[in-house]
Amino acid sequence: MLYPSEFDVIVVGGGHAGTEAALAAARSGSKTLLLTHNIETLGQMSCNPSIGGIGKGHLVKEIDALGGAMAIATDEAGIQFRILNGSKGPAVRATRAQADRIIYKQSIRSRLENQPNLWLFQQAVDDLMVEGNKVVGAVTQVGLRFRARSVVVTAGTFLNGLIHVGLSHYPAGRAGDPPAQSLGKRLQELALPQGRLKTGTPPRIDGRTIDFSKLAEQPGDLDPVPVFSYLGNAAMHPKQVPCWVTHTNARTHDIIRAGLDRSPMYTGVIEGVGPRYCPSIEDKIHRFADKESHQIFLEPEGLTTNEFYPNGVSTSLPFDVQLELIHSLPGLENAFILRPGYAIEYDYFDPRGLTSSLQSRQIEGLFFAGQINGTTGYEEAAAQGLLAGINAARFARNDEPWTPRRDEAYLGVMVDDLITRGVTEPYRMFTSRAEYRLSLREDNADLRLTEVGRELGLVDDIRWDAFNRKRDAIEREVQRLRATWVNPRILTAAIAEPLLGKAIEREYSLFDLLKRPNVSYEALMAARLADDSLLAGPGEADPIVAEQIEIQVKYEGYIARQLDEVQKQAGHENHRIPADIDYDAVRSLSFEVRQKLKTHLPETVGQASRISGMTPAAISLLLIHLKRLQ
Ligand code: FAD
Repeated sequence: MLYPSEFDVIVVGGGHAGTEAALAAARSGSKTLLLTHNIETLGQMSCNPSIGGIGKGHLVKEIDALGGAMAIATDEAGIQFRILNGSKGPAVRATRAQADRIIYKQSIRSRLENQPNLWLFQQAVDDLMVEGNKVVGAVTQVGLRFRARSVVVTAGTFLNGLIHVGLSHYPAGRAGDPPAQSLGKRLQELALPQGRLKTGTPPRIDGRTIDFSKLAEQPGDLDPVPVFSYLGNAAMHPKQVPCWVTHTNARTHDIIRAGLDRSPMYTGVIEGVGPRYCPSIEDKIHRFADKESHQIFLEPEGLTTNEFYPNGVSTSLPFDVQLELIHSLPGLENAFILRPGYAIEYDYFDPRGLTSSLQSRQIEGLFFAGQINGTTGYEEAAAQGLLAGINAARFARNDEPWTPRRDEAYLGVMVDDLITRGVTEPYRMFTSRAEYRLSLREDNADLRLTEVGRELGLVDDIRWDAFNRKRDAIEREVQRLRATWVNPRILTAAIAEPLLGKAIEREYSLFDLLKRPNVSYEALMAARLADDSLLAGPGEADPIVAEQIEIQVKYEGYIARQLDEVQKQAGHENHRIPADIDYDAVRSLSFEVRQKLKTHLPETVGQASRISGMTPAAISLLLIHLKRLQ
């Protein structure tokens, strides 16, 4: 048959993980097939139309640095941008955007349709072809068989998905989409360790029925408007619009409490564990019983729709209770609900069954990414998808996997957390999960990853040139700051006092002066030195380069200390454990530790040390054993 049925990589599912996986595999040169239920829902945001935030924004920048689509699609679709933690240190500053969900989907779809090496096909995958312990392809609902060297499954919340609204429930992948039951059953047959999780979403409101005069307006950052992608700019953004804020009150809380006897969560109907950091409103009222009010953000879903997303009232209470609780909120007294809120339970697979390349330990060539690994969030899904796509393509070419370390990327932190610790509730990214967060900033994701992205075949010439220009400009300017010395004759007291708060008494480099906490790069550049030939400014730095220089200079000492720490740990991180190690042969290990090691099968001593309950003494015994094996 002329129709192509043999591929290097098959990706199942066109959500956030699947689209990045397919793009990455195809970008790196593999013939890739993306099989998904519905081409219209490629890149669909199942919950709120927003991308980024603390920890999540860091992942989006990393995806971008590796040539992925999420950041640039957000720049094309973002209708409100903000920098969160703007007044705090650079490590925890994060970008967040409200996206027009229709434009976002269009942007993702157009990237997929125009990606060389990538084929899109609309069909449910009902079965995986497995020969021995190897996956060799996928079978669709109408029996079409596609073969491939590797398969990435990114089925999101669809595997045996069950939607709950009050005590009613019905099978679905998310509202409006069918569940993936046959694939769910097939994966159960493969006996991979799995469990059930749940997540939820609020009812949506018709904006024409909101009384905005009773709400507080929350504008985005307008001067300047932030951008997500290293290749993005504010001119790409569509019109910017505000969000709005209202609050729950005593009446809202009474309505919710009175409805709990018909809540699927509080009557034990839902078994799956939900996301602790994105709880339902009934959960919040129950857990924080003494709190009198909760903030609710009303977020526009797009420029061409009246739909609003009330962020903070995710619920699976019965519809009549949802209606009453929404009507109790100031500004929403007459609100019309366009879609009911609901909770969904779904199958996930224990990520401890994966290696750090996101490949199954049991079935060769089978990769998992996204919500199916027990995470929550578009960004977490997309980042895993990118990694799984890269490694599925490398597996198909018999290349070694690429596995970023914890000190290199949030992506490395997330995958290491997942595969060494597993999940007991949906996992979301926070900056506090990264021990090296001073080095893992949003602003330097490109400096950390674009070079390796280029080696992996993910970064095109346009991105590579822009990256090199930026990197060279930073290096040149830092060098100039180090090499330019000023003394009290050049930086006279009249210039020094407004700039530094006092006169200088000896010679300093501009680099040393910039290290001082109150001296900004901009002010230093604006200083008119007495010796014109040493004029500090205007420098050649554009604002992005200037920001990078300032961070690098000011935090040099802290970053150097962190690098020392990384180097100390590097021994463990790079010390590989042979896949066929016999833990029974490691002398003096306790039974419990032995069991943990046999279950987790860590790939490195570093990973072994992070398994919960692992002691320094056990690691020493392991090291002695590894030395003996050499
Ligand atoms: P999805 O985006 O779910 O994509 C899965 C894709 O796979 C879909 O395109 C589907 O059609 C396709 N697919 C599935 N099975 C098959 C098959 N057998 N054959 C072919 N195609 C298949 N995240 C948050 O951060 N905060 C929240 O508050 C939040 N609330 C949520 C509430 C709800 C109700 C839902 C459903 C999700 C929520 N999420 C939330 C999670 C967020 O939507 C997911 O984390 C993210 O979409 C996961 O991306 P993914 O690519 O893994 O899966």
